[in-house]
Amino acid sequence: MKPLVYNRKMMMLRCFALLLALLLPASAADWKIGVARMKITPGGPIWMSGYGNRNKPSEGVVHDLWAKAIAMEDKRGQRAVIVTTDIIGLPRAISEQIGAECQKRWGLDRSRLMLNSSHTHTGPMVRENLNTMFDFSPEESQRVRDYAQMLTKTLIDTIGAAIGDLQPGDIAYGEGKAPFAVNRRQFNANGKVTIGVNPQGAVDHSVPVLALKGADGKLRAALFGYACHNTTLTGEFYKLSGDYAGFAQIEFEKMHPGAAGMFMLLAGGDQNPNPRSKDELAIQHGRTLATAVDAVLKGQMKPVRGPLRAAFQLTELQFAPHTREDFEKELSSKTPAAVRRAKEMLKAYDERRPVTKVAYPVQAIRLGKDVTYVALGGELVVGYGLRTKKEFPGENTVVAGYSNDVMCYIPTAQILKEGGYEAVDSMIYYGQPGPFAPDVEERVMGGVKNVMKRVGRAK
Ligand SMILES: [Zn+2]
Repeated sequence: MKPLVYNRKMMMLRCFALLLALLLPASAADWKIGVARMKITPGGPIWMSGYGNRNKPSEGVVHDLWAKAIAMEDKRGQRAVIVTTDIIGLPRAISEQIGAECQKRWGLDRSRLMLNSSHTHTGPMVRENLNTMFDFSPEESQRVRDYAQMLTKTLIDTIGAAIGDLQPGDIAYGEGKAPFAVNRRQFNANGKVTIGVNPQGAVDHSVPVLALKGADGKLRAALFGYACHNTTLTGEFYKLSGDYAGFAQIEFEKMHPGAAGMFMLLAGGDQNPNPRSKDELAIQHGRTLATAVDAVLKGQMKPVRGPLRAAFQLTELQFAPHTREDFEKELSSKTPAAVRRAKEMLKAYDERRPVTKVAYPVQAIRLGKDVTYVALGGELVVGYGLRTKKEFPGENTVVAGYSNDVMCYIPTAQILKEGGYEAVDSMIYYGQPGPFAPDVEERVMGGVKNVMKRVGRAK
């Protein structure tokens, strides 16, 4: 009879455990969350990035620029930190420095740190991003270098503060829509593609929202994304701001006092806000986005559970073949940035290390079966977001560009064939040798498939 007694005891224990699970809110043991924010506004005038036609440093500030971080820890103690920044793009040198420091200080593996840039074009230059855009005086150059140093330190501090703030909480996910992004690849009568408005072109208007609440149910942070260039304000604006993304965060934080609004730029490389070029339009688009986020929070959101899984890799992207003669010819170009690019490329040839490829960061952070964040480097065009979501159905997937490194545009195979700014001309300002080889899309997607497999989402 002894085994029966044993079984009965086990049964009672099981019943007790089940009762406990039913009585306790599911969230109580699911997550720990931490939130931190620090200002990254430059202390004085500084050259702004994004538009090659600017001819002087910034003149004043519309609103502060921010670095914000959320730390998440599942029941098994697995952590990840997502960082958003109101800057043009974090170069790999800075991301790697931050990654190494986070590994050393908090044992945070590189795969568990996601660094996204809002790509504001009314923010400071961040070396070595877009480094052939301007010629600087030594003092201006020093100011840009000092800013990169301050930014690096502040980002590490923000990440540390978010980890230090880890406390029991809840995570939920939902999606809304905002309509102001338009495809900007305009096809003209002469067959050329220019930057304009293409109402027939592909867009992705979804607004993914990750809500982080404290154990008391109070909203602590909302991480929201949108696939659209942060370029309402054009090259003639000289005041520092976060553009529509900056205004969206401010408007959101007015609606939810005490909570951090965090903007993540998705695959918006070939998308522009429409209309644009006026101060009030940046505010208007920001308000539209904040209102969309607020509507998601007021609706039915999906509870997000663990476990947390992460993967990161560097994939190699190849440039189309080029020769020394190509750049010798380019030395006589009328575009100053092209001459600077040519000089850099010739120097590389002289040193017997012509630039033939670039390392490309690909990352996935999966929260249970509820949502996966895929973060890709560069100015990622919308086609990658749409394709990745289509190829990985069944679970929510958010595809961000402008993450971990912004080394140039990342065109799809189709855009590469069509040509235009995203495929060819932009490479000048990034100091890259020229267009990618035709297999660029398959190489990027190969990386995506690989990281998705590693977080358990392979087919
Ligand atoms: Zn851009």
